[in-house]
Amino acid sequence: MSTNKNSALPSDVVQTSNFIRNIIDDDLATHKYTSRTWRGTPGDAAAQKNQPVDPAKIRTRFPPEPNGYLHFGHAKSILLNFNLANTYDGVCHLRFDDTNPEKEEQQFVDGIIDSVHWIGGDYKKFGKEHLYFASDYFDYFYAFAETLIEHDLAYVDSQSADEMRSTRGTLTEPGKNSPFRSRGIAENLQLFREMKAGKHAEGTHIVRAKIDMASPNINLRDPAIYRIKHAHHHRTGDKWCIYPMYAYAHPIEDALENITHSICTLEFADQRPWYDWLLAKLAEFGAINTPLPQQIEFSRLNLTYIIISKRYLKQLVDQKHVDGWDDPRMPTLIGARRRGFIPAGFKLFVERIGVSKSDSWIDLSVLEDCQREALNVCERRMAVLNPLKLIIDNYPAGQSEECFPPNHPQQPELGKRAVPFSRELWIEREDFEETPPKGYFRLFPGNMVRLRYGFVIRCIGAEKDSAGKVTAVHCEYLPETKSGTAGADSVKVKGNIHWVSVQHAYECEVRLFDRLFKVPHPGRAADANGATNFLDDLNPNAKQIITAYLEPSLKLAEAEASYQFERHGYFVADRVDSTPGKPIFNRAVTLRDGWSSGQK
Ligand code: ATP
Ligand code: MG
Repeated sequence: MSTNKNSALPSDVVQTSNFIRNIIDDDLATHKYTSRTWRGTPGDAAAQKNQPVDPAKIRTRFPPEPNGYLHFGHAKSILLNFNLANTYDGVCHLRFDDTNPEKEEQQFVDGIIDSVHWIGGDYKKFGKEHLYFASDYFDYFYAFAETLIEHDLAYVDSQSADEMRSTRGTLTEPGKNSPFRSRGIAENLQLFREMKAGKHAEGTHIVRAKIDMASPNINLRDPAIYRIKHAHHHRTGDKWCIYPMYAYAHPIEDALENITHSICTLEFADQRPWYDWLLAKLAEFGAINTPLPQQIEFSRLNLTYIIISKRYLKQLVDQKHVDGWDDPRMPTLIGARRRGFIPAGFKLFVERIGVSKSDSWIDLSVLEDCQREALNVCERRMAVLNPLKLIIDNYPAGQSEECFPPNHPQQPELGKRAVPFSRELWIEREDFEETPPKGYFRLFPGNMVRLRYGFVIRCIGAEKDSAGKVTAVHCEYLPETKSGTAGADSVKVKGNIHWVSVQHAYECEVRLFDRLFKVPHPGRAADANGATNFLDDLNPNAKQIITAYLEPSLKLAEAEASYQFERHGYFVADRVDSTPGKPIFNRAVTLRDGWSSGQK
């Protein structure tokens, strides 16, 4: 079954109520946003004036900076924002927060759009595509900064960066006013226009809001609004040489887009007073539409055994510790997709962990479990990963027949398929023991097991090489015990092993992926010199490449089709390296968690 078919939300998922829903419920009950107007596209107060009432009950947004690929943390934010919009008959915007000209690239824009689609974020609503770029608002940011200057609420500060740092104060001491704070409005305007015209070097001036240098909240001590940067922007080219600061631009982006609930991670809580101050002033001067958006913070997703921070992920890619952003070991969405994780697994995960205001760590096994659960819809196949030859001495050479395994044990409607059976089969090396340990029910001389969907066999003995390694196992089959025939239950056995016919097998490259790091908190343990390095904690066994023998039907697997390989786990045909008729398989997740049970 392909991943597309798997992406529906599993039916057992209940929409857990959370504090954000409570806020929205209250806002809807009090009709806080019902009077907002909307011209169909973002704009300032003048643009939205006398326009129809906004058809969206709420507007949320997912605002990535296009400076990397999306990771598991972003998945939480995407699903949260799009789910809320869907639940409340609203819209979620995909907005690129591309106001910083450095580090931003078109390839990341394309990659992010692709991942948002993949995970189920749908920004088409009310006949419109709500895909926006903050760089389209540069004229607004600029005009609003002039508005603030005109109202003596912003000024050009010409202190050096060091001077500014030393006058900012600390958490316990107030800051000091800049000597340039009392500059006249006309001079400020002129300087700002000169900055825009490219007449000043980087670092010579910045524009700051004039709020309160003694505020207990450092973010209100005259926060920076604009800086000079003679940099090329990937969308606006060389049009601008001044760029707005993120904390100034973001609230305005929300306001221009009629966002009602601007949901962000907890580290922005201290910025909220600045967000509110700025929008309140701009509304007072008639610059932006009202009622104003509100910022709501939730705790970011922290997962053990991986690292979710673009900076570190970039380092892994740049230093070639992984094979790229889409390496299946990477906690990126493009990596997860190649690995065989599916959107339904992420949806289940996000519902299960919920949303809260306190920071916590989620064990990676929770995500893996959700993927397992979601992947359970996949069809089953037989695959031998660590092969040992089994020879059925009493089965005629040159003969073969078909066995008919069900495609899914709980879904008979998915039917059965034919799998060829012959005298020589591949079985797992672990399924034979010359001297069985206690409680071992599989093959050992004299013991009987069932070959799944085939016959009961009795083990006779084994061949060994000069080093004593077992090279083949011999057995006899009981012809009257074929699965699905009347005699199937005539002989009772405890062991039940899978197999693939040697003559018919698809010999295939299979990649076994495991956790990227071997410890829950990479980079936390210090070495003898007190230094820490997350690279020391990389799991050297996170990628193994093997040659496996798969049942022949898997040769026709399409790229990105997922299957359960019985007794092994969930595997996907690699979407990059597979070619028609020659898929390569990646292990997404094993059937059981070997980490929590202490096996690793
Ligand atoms: P990083 O720290 O990895 O660079 P970021 O926050 O800088 O991530 P952005 O592109 O700015 O990345 O984020 C886009 C959105 O995703 C923001 O709204 C941000 O709050 C959210 N987000 C990022 N990381 C997480 C996380 N770990 N958990 C939940 N939401 C996250
Ligand atoms: Mg960021």
